[in-house]
Amino acid sequence: MSKDSLISTRGGAQVSIDDAILYGLAHDGGLYVPTSFPNIPVKDLYDIDHFPLFAEQVLAPFFEHSTIQINQDFCEQVFSFPLVLKYLDHQHYVLELFHGPTLSFKDFGARFFAKCLAELRQQKPIKVLVATSGDTGSAVASALSGTEGVEGYILFPQGKISQRQQAQITCWGGNVHAIAVHGTFDQCQQLVKKAFTEEQGDTLTTANSINIARLLPQVLFYAYSSIQIAKLRDSLVNYIVPSGNLGNVTACYWAKQLGFPIGDIKIATNKNAVLSDFLSSGIYQAQPSVKTLANAMDVGDPSNLERLRHLFTDFPAFKAQVNALSVDDEAIKAAIVDCYTRYRYLICPHTATAYHRLSEVETDQPWVMTATAHPTKFEEIIEPLLNIIIPVPPQLQILLKAKQKYHVIKPEITELMRIMRF
Ligand SMILES: *Cc1c(COP(=O)(O)O)cnc(C)c1O
Repeated sequence: MSKDSLISTRGGAQVSIDDAILYGLAHDGGLYVPTSFPNIPVKDLYDIDHFPLFAEQVLAPFFEHSTIQINQDFCEQVFSFPLVLKYLDHQHYVLELFHGPTLSFKDFGARFFAKCLAELRQQKPIKVLVATSGDTGSAVASALSGTEGVEGYILFPQGKISQRQQAQITCWGGNVHAIAVHGTFDQCQQLVKKAFTEEQGDTLTTANSINIARLLPQVLFYAYSSIQIAKLRDSLVNYIVPSGNLGNVTACYWAKQLGFPIGDIKIATNKNAVLSDFLSSGIYQAQPSVKTLANAMDVGDPSNLERLRHLFTDFPAFKAQVNALSVDDEAIKAAIVDCYTRYRYLICPHTATAYHRLSEVETDQPWVMTATAHPTKFEEIIEPLLNIIIPVPPQLQILLKAKQKYHVIKPEITELMRIMRF
């Protein structure tokens, strides 16, 4: 690959991977994607079972000309917790991506991103700003905590996220600044956008899923698990991915593009049906997001749609390869109950959208549903439905006990800048 190996989805100038990570969003408003995918010798990877070693082989080619050294040491530090593949029955698998420090798949991307920033270290601290309505904030806060040369600012709407979510954002201190905003999530996002136009002289980047460094490690979910299953089954592996901003599922398409043994990909969304509406009408129309039980997928204008569309030449090609279904709250609840009754297996409300689609596939090929969060994070929804108590994993117990530290501000840019320019 050449040095400037990334291009904006809107066609702007090519940049290096290092710059793409530092900029986050391309200057033309697009998202960075590889100009072409590296040649990865997929068959040679069938014998590498150790996940960090596997990760090195898949990710290093993207960083050929980078100052970031993707070596075994880097990958052992970032991927210090497992990705777990289980099966429900002979054809149906679950890919559990929630064994990291904050119990969602976002830990993989957030930790990889944080370590990249640490290696890109500049003369002044790099400032990372992110608005969150839940899982992103906790994953990014945990990943940045203690990273030298990086200051993290995590904005969340005061009183509008769950107690457990708030505890996971506010327990860190040090270089992680939690900021409760008197306002809505949308106002938090507007503050982030304004900060980018105000801030001068410092390196400011964002940690949401538009950043290429959060997306690339997600390719590993599908690269690694497809090989593990293909080794046993000698067949292509099919996936159902619960989706909101479409970062996770874009990584699945990229893994397929790289040549991993992946067959069909299905997308499950919640009531926010912007993608299925687009597929049926051919006209893209962003929608205001609606609140659902699967709140980390409450997205009305998914940013990674640009990356997904970029993979295909035109709308008919896109429509032939992309299949989405919107699943409402009633169906989410029914899925949680059915999965527990049938398999004694607990799923979170996001994973439940994928489980709902598992019942439509009838084939002799393996199907995998991606489990994006640990059920314990959504105990308010699951416990009354099933009449059970979900045990709290030790990593969460520790965070819940820690003292909470956070600023409280009005949704005004001057208040945010006072904290960021301390
Ligand atoms: C973020 C998130 C999703 C949605 O992932 P996208 O990459 O935005 O499509 C799904 N489930 C959980 C638990 C999440 O935290």
